[in-house]
Parts: sequence; structure tokens; C-alpha cells
Amino acid sequence: MNYHILTLFPDMVLEGLNTSIIGRAVQKGIIGIHGINIRDYSKNKHRQVDDYPYGGGAGMVMQPGPVCDAYQDLCRKLGKRPRVLYMTPQGKVFSQKIARELAQEEDLVFLCGHYEGIDERALSLIVTDYLSIGDYVLTGGELPAMVMIDCISRLVPGVLSNEESAQIESFYDNLLEYPQYTRPETYEGLKVPEVLLSGHHKNIETWRRQESIKRTLERRPDLLEHASLSKKDREFLRELTEISQERACVQENIVIE
Ligand code: SAM
Repeated sequence: MNYHILTLFPDMVLEGLNTSIIGRAVQKGIIGIHGINIRDYSKNKHRQVDDYPYGGGAGMVMQPGPVCDAYQDLCRKLGKRPRVLYMTPQGKVFSQKIARELAQEEDLVFLCGHYEGIDERALSLIVTDYLSIGDYVLTGGELPAMVMIDCISRLVPGVLSNEESAQIESFYDNLLEYPQYTRPETYEGLKVPEVLLSGHHKNIETWRRQESIKRTLERRPDLLEHASLSKKDREFLRELTEISQERACVQENIVIE
């Protein structure tokens, strides 16, 4: 997988991603992260790449020429036209599902805006996907690009030392992950659940599955609608829902009384 980041601040992205697991994957050559400075494609003697918005209004807008020229130059070097993901609060919200799909690509271009964003004509000419990291506005697309690159890279074979760990995490199967514990067995009077110390693999598997369902119901019930649940899982979920409904009724009676 090769990431090509079109940005005004390549150092920010390269330094941010060059540590820990992602940094190691770059060193091993499993992934490549290439920063392309849009400013290098300015035809202005001051290397300016932004200008005032037509129609007036606050802020500056990135001009279309340097952005498109940077992309065309990359396409010439690669001999193909990779997907261009524009980082924008106006895009589809990035998710584990989108990450899984993007991880299948060989090359991905991340286009990072700054100031008030990028001239619409450049976007209409080169962008294939509009992606956001959430309903809030940041100063630039560099942090969103780093978030997405980190997430996608974990799904590229060989990046994680144990590929299993990306298989059973939160959002796999649309469920949140079960609680995790490590040494010591007792901390501040809190004990590790007995079943995890039992060495009984079948019971541990059942406990983890049920905790996963319970946690998803408590914290992200919206996910359950698309979760792949077995008949046994559904029965457990029904029991949980009945219990929480009973609790709600009891509380309501208390309030009424
Ligand atoms: N004026 C733009 C708007 O209202 O849609 C916001 C521009 S923002 C200040 C500057 C740049 O930051 C954007 O071009 C985009 O690349 C990036 N950005 C800001 N918030 C983002 C988000 N939630 N997700 C992805 N990119 C974001």
C-alpha cells in the first residue's frame, strides 16, 4: 500500500506517522507514506497557493492550479490515476467499513485542504471520495489523513504482528470489543473475572461474546441493527433487553410513587 499525501505541511504528516507500529511498517517496506508539497507546484514567485474567495467572505481559498498540477504529476510518475480522498467536514463519515474497503487499494491519494478549503473546480476534476472524520471543523486535512492512514494500515497484511488482533476488535461484526485485563489479578480491590483465570477456552469465548453484546447494547445500541448475531446471541440480547426494560419499569414506579 502506498499513500500519497497532497498537503501544504508534509512534515506534519510524515513525522506524525513515523513512529510505533506504522513507522515500523514503513521501515519494513510494507507501506509507503509519501508527502507531496502542493506549494512546490505554485507558479507564483512567492510560492503562494491561496487567494481571496470570489464573492467576498472570510478567509482564503486554495487555488485549483497547484492542487491539480501536483496530482497530474503524481499520475504521470505512477502511470495510473489512483483514487483521491478529499479530507472535508462535508464528506461521508469515515468508518471501519470504509477502512476495510480502502485497504484493498494499491495506491491512495489523500488531499488535505487548509484555510477555507480548496477551489471547487479542482475538487470536481480530481476527487473520487469526500471523507470526514466527524461533525466538527479542524484547521486542516492533515490530522484526518493521519487518522485514516493509521486505521487503514492496521488492516494491511503484515502491519500488525498478530493479524488476529485486527480481526476481533471493536466494529468487527458491528460489535464493540469485550473488556480486557492483564496482571495483577487484583488491583485496588478489583478482581479479574474468574472465568478468564479458569483456562476453560469455551467458557472464556462465551463470556467474551456476551460481554461484547452487553457493551454494545449499553454504549452503541445503534450498531446492533447491523451486527451479525447467531441464534444464541439473539436469545442473550433478548434476555438483556427484557432485564433493562424491567429495570426501567421498576424505576418508573418508584418515581410515580
Ligand atoms: N470551510 C470549510 C467548510 O465549512 O466545509 C472548512 C474548511 S477547514 C477550516 C480546512 C480544511 O480542514 C478542510 O479543507 C479539510 O481538508 C480539513 N477538515 C476540517 N475539518 C475536517 C473534518 N471534520 N474531516 C476531514 N477534514 C476536515
